[in-house]
Amino acid sequence: MLDNGRLFLNNEAYESTNEADRLRVILTGMGAVIVVIVCLFFAVIELFIGELGFIPFYGIMTLFSLLSLTLLRRASFDVAKIVFIVPVLLVIAVLASIEKQATGVYLYFLAACVYVITIFGYEKIIYSVLFSLLTVALAFVSYFYDINIVESEELTQAYIDTSYITNFIVSLFSSLLAIYFLMRLNIKSNEHLVKTSEELRESENKFQLAVQGSSAGIWEWNSAEDLIHISPKLADLLGYKNGDLKRLTMHGMLSFIHPNDLEDAKEKLLEHFRERTPFSVECRARTKTGDYIWVLDTGQAEWNSEGRATKMVGTVLNIDERKRAETQIQKQNELLAKANEELDRFVYSTSHDLKAPLSSVQGLIAIAELTDDKEELKECLNLMKGRISNLNAFIADITNYSRNSRLGLSIEEVDLKSLLDEVFDDLEYFKGRADISFEMDFPESFSVSTDRKRLKVILGNLLNNAVKYHNYDLENPIVQIKAGHEESQDMIQVIDNGQGIALEHHSNIFDMFYRATERSDGSGLGLYIVKETVDKLQGSITLQSEVDTGSVFTLKLPKPQGIKLLTSIA
Ligand code: ADP
Repeated sequence: MLDNGRLFLNNEAYESTNEADRLRVILTGMGAVIVVIVCLFFAVIELFIGELGFIPFYGIMTLFSLLSLTLLRRASFDVAKIVFIVPVLLVIAVLASIEKQATGVYLYFLAACVYVITIFGYEKIIYSVLFSLLTVALAFVSYFYDINIVESEELTQAYIDTSYITNFIVSLFSSLLAIYFLMRLNIKSNEHLVKTSEELRESENKFQLAVQGSSAGIWEWNSAEDLIHISPKLADLLGYKNGDLKRLTMHGMLSFIHPNDLEDAKEKLLEHFRERTPFSVECRARTKTGDYIWVLDTGQAEWNSEGRATKMVGTVLNIDERKRAETQIQKQNELLAKANEELDRFVYSTSHDLKAPLSSVQGLIAIAELTDDKEELKECLNLMKGRISNLNAFIADITNYSRNSRLGLSIEEVDLKSLLDEVFDDLEYFKGRADISFEMDFPESFSVSTDRKRLKVILGNLLNNAVKYHNYDLENPIVQIKAGHEESQDMIQVIDNGQGIALEHHSNIFDMFYRATERSDGSGLGLYIVKETVDKLQGSITLQSEVDTGSVFTLKLPKPQGIKLLTSIA
């Protein structure tokens, strides 16, 4: 109980103090107890011999020692030590001045010096030095000056002998006690050191095992040298050998990040340094081969007292597979959403586009059944033919759309002239076609490397519209087809001097079921199919048009190397 300090400490203070502080409290408490016992001892002797002059001093020392014990219980350790040591030193000084060396009171100064250094320790070095100096100073003062505040009788030899022996024993015991505690403190701190370094070694081993076992690469940044040390796993993750990436700076580390992800990564890093928010970023990192892989980079910095980050440790995890799967799912979701939207509009529009010609055929049949007039019957049949060919065109549109989205690309060298001949054949009986002159403005042997069927669908729709929306009031309705090779793409233009399209429709003209004019009896699918097909070929299509002036559709298709790539992914 005495040894572990429970006598001098309350429970709460006992739990919250470390072992070294506890030892110092025990020593302070034991000092106070010794002083009380010694004071009582001398008080009894002096009462017995009738020497009452020193009794008040013993009383003062006893009182302050008891006060000090109370303060220790209340966990006011520093105050308790000062309240104990100062009155004791002052009283020793007074007694020593009166009795000089005869009774051996001076020996207490030596014991007090060792004692104050032990109870305050190196942690409170200012107090240790201050109170040792006070002890030395009081020893000198009491030796050279007479502090005559007590009238004392001539001391008997027997008293002097008893006092000397008692003082010698008590001061020796006190010094030895203090030295014993100093040794224990030393052993305790050594034991603590050994235990801490063992724990450290153990946790280092565990950490090493975790690093080796984990699939994460580890990096550690030291801000003073701006050097990043990376684990073999991280080097491996980036395709390097262990030791390849030595003397890497923070700037060097950031240069591995994909340019498109760099700003985000830098911003998050600065935010971590500034706000101390957790650092975590998903970005693409460049590997030795120059390819990029998706990684999850997380880290934690350490700050100094001025708030500057001095160190940071982080992990890098390969999340490439997960990220690619996510992108794939996202793409599929987008396609699904698009397909759903198209399906909605499709159902709505088809019900109209399929029903309208059918109802009008039904009406025409009813009229035909009632008439005997051959001319009227012929007229009805002609009208029926028109409706049916509308229906046919609509079904052809839907088939083209479905084929485009389902089938892969088949790239070949396509002779433009022969392809256009096929398109014109299909347009042969198209209403109004005969009134229009077609001009071809490209070399006879002009060819493009592309998917033949898809290019036919595109040009078929564009030329169909050029004929359908022509201005028949004109004397010379013309449709021009221009073509040429550009640096990385081939260009084909379909130009007409027809009705033209008002500017407000330009942004929607390639939308599904969009019609720019009430006069159109088409499905509104033609240009949508054109755009979808051009997208499939990774080309582009643009429109320039003015009402009553005409329209220019410009188609651009990627050159062979681009197309090779396309075929491989199609
Ligand atoms: P539609 O079946 O109505 O022809 P498209 O998608 O082919 O559907 O065309 C959409 C609309 O764009 C048409 O309704 C028409 O108003 C306008 N349009 C297309 N091509 C031309 C053109 N060459 N000249 C004028 N208007 C055109």
